[in-house]
Amino acid sequence: MVKDDSDIKKWIDDKIKNKNFKNIFGKGLKSKNIFLRDIGKFEFAPIDIHEKRFLIRTGIFQYYLGKEIDGTIINDPFDDTQIEKALKRFSEEFLTGEIEGYKLADNPGIVDMFIWYHCAKKKEKNGKNIGGAGICGKNPRCNECPLKDACLMGQNVVK
Ligand code: SF4
Repeated sequence: MVKDDSDIKKWIDDKIKNKNFKNIFGKGLKSKNIFLRDIGKFEFAPIDIHEKRFLIRTGIFQYYLGKEIDGTIINDPFDDTQIEKALKRFSEEFLTGEIEGYKLADNPGIVDMFIWYHCAKKKEKNGKNIGGAGICGKNPRCNECPLKDACLMGQNVVK
């Protein structure tokens, strides 16, 4: 039990006042979005190499090329902000499911987790896989991928 919660309030208030919270957010968009998603703000999606590769290989990013999303013309696959916007808009336009009351359309941070798991390498610890499925990684295994018929790259490489 906390003895005097006013001390905790003061401690947090001081950190906010002195802007002493930047190390919590980390540097850059990805770190900030990881933090926000970790506290339940699933409208933010931390974009890393897995999401970038997936969105470009599947053709989702290209679908939005030249279109405007929230004031930005989508034209740069090296811009993480644009990749995130494409994922958000794709979720809004095409995804209708929900998990535990969270609509995927409004929560691309959850969609991002599916993508990450599909792409990230397997990693074993104590006999358990604590990584991803390793399907759409550095060397994509399109022949084993359930998305191959819907995916731009999958349609072109799968024989
Ligand atoms: S078909 Fe290939 S490129 Fe497309 S999502 Fe699957 S593994 Fe990735």
